[in-house]
Amino acid sequence: MSDTQPSDTAPYDELRRSLRETATLASAAAVLGWDQETYMPPGAAAFRGEQMAALSAIVHERHTAPRVGELIAACEADASLDDEAAASLRALRRDYDRATRLPTSLVRAFAQTTSRAMHAWREARERSDFGAFAPWLQEVVDLNRERAQAFGIPAGGEAYDALLEDYEPGMTAAEIRRTFDALRAGLAPLIREIASNGRRPDDAWQRTPVPVDRQVGFNRWVVERMGFDFQAGRMDVSAHPFCEGIAPGDVRITTRYRDDAWADALSSTMHEAGHALYEQNLPKAERFGQPLAEAASMGIHESQSRTWENLVGRSRPFWEWALPEMQRALGEPALQALDVETVYRGMNVVQPGLIRVESDEATYNLHIMLRFDLERALLAGDLAVADLPAAWNDRVRDDLGLEVPDDAQGVLQDIHWSMGAIGYFPTYTLGNLYAAQFWTAIRDALPDLDGQLRRGEFAPLTGWLRENIHAHGRRYTAPELCRRITGRPLGHEPLLEYLEGKLRPVYGI
Ligand code: ZN
Repeated sequence: MSDTQPSDTAPYDELRRSLRETATLASAAAVLGWDQETYMPPGAAAFRGEQMAALSAIVHERHTAPRVGELIAACEADASLDDEAAASLRALRRDYDRATRLPTSLVRAFAQTTSRAMHAWREARERSDFGAFAPWLQEVVDLNRERAQAFGIPAGGEAYDALLEDYEPGMTAAEIRRTFDALRAGLAPLIREIASNGRRPDDAWQRTPVPVDRQVGFNRWVVERMGFDFQAGRMDVSAHPFCEGIAPGDVRITTRYRDDAWADALSSTMHEAGHALYEQNLPKAERFGQPLAEAASMGIHESQSRTWENLVGRSRPFWEWALPEMQRALGEPALQALDVETVYRGMNVVQPGLIRVESDEATYNLHIMLRFDLERALLAGDLAVADLPAAWNDRVRDDLGLEVPDDAQGVLQDIHWSMGAIGYFPTYTLGNLYAAQFWTAIRDALPDLDGQLRRGEFAPLTGWLRENIHAHGRRYTAPELCRRITGRPLGHEPLLEYLEGKLRPVYGI
């Protein structure tokens, strides 16, 4: 914060200017981060680390500066500010208090430990040796307990709640547990029924080799029709697909292509484009750096990606529209005889597997629930780190009916814990739950939704999402947004009904 502001500047104006400057610095780091995953030459890696560290230190310092705290307090005392400013201040107060409650020594210990833990995790996964990672995971759990204490554990709550605030503000572990348990009680039997039914829709056509440049052309056409603005965004290639909302007018997505996996590439592109539409529609031009120009939560962000990837991209109406263009754009003779029904069924194969990121729309949630239960037990001290692999393998056997052959395909498969992230996993299934529940409201608001999708008219859907979700930024927490849109708190029923309603006919059960 500069000392040269004129003394008659209203605190709210000074606060907004400061937030915009901080966000501008953070956006420069985001460009560097995007470059690192896409075009950066390997020789730049070491110095890029220094660049990112230097920028993030400045950003952190600015976020936690005492002057910011003074300005927030001055604005809170100003009765003339409107509702929007009040909503913005609630979010800023929360962020500022959280950021300043952690002692610097703990912030440093967490950064150093997780950076080494990620390295240890990579080696341990390569050798499938959980024992080599276990001491690091113990440190990550211990440090997260300390962080939770420093943030403050809400009355009647638990340490997990304090960590969850980083990802899903306003949500509690107990509420997630209730919703997940109810979902699991309906979903696990459905998946078992499908697995034992013996039928499997034909999806061999998905492995028809298609040159990558033709896949790129088809994917670009789809996201453009979805409403992704290429004047304000890019689509590139990276090892792990992602979306980066860098700045006003600059939202970038990536996809991963393989000759024999064009349908996976399309799903991944639609997923990231769903994130991107949220980022492009947040009111960043006027409010860059302010909470009302930021996403409500990670679960809400994920609901947008899952809406496009699954509710749209795996629907029959979507394929009635997309099939002829897919056949023309990909051009492979083997794809020309496909009909809508075959593609629709093949896009909805359910197959329990060991690896979360390769799993289908239904079994994916079982992967998330087991991670949520286990990390919550670790944090509470109800599960020892040494007992984690056995607990993991038992749960995979119970829920997915599979034996875990080694830790690399079991407890070591995800990077999250090594990064220090406890409380992140549930946001993926929360995204599926929010998406399904919002979809019921969208159907009410857009009675001709199926007809619109069938004609490739996505504007009514994107307009609804913009007006009801994107435009609000962080004005409402995710639970508030859910009640506002659907009139109810988040529940397991819409997702379960959607999956039952789709998968039973696909599998004839
Ligand atoms: Zn996502």
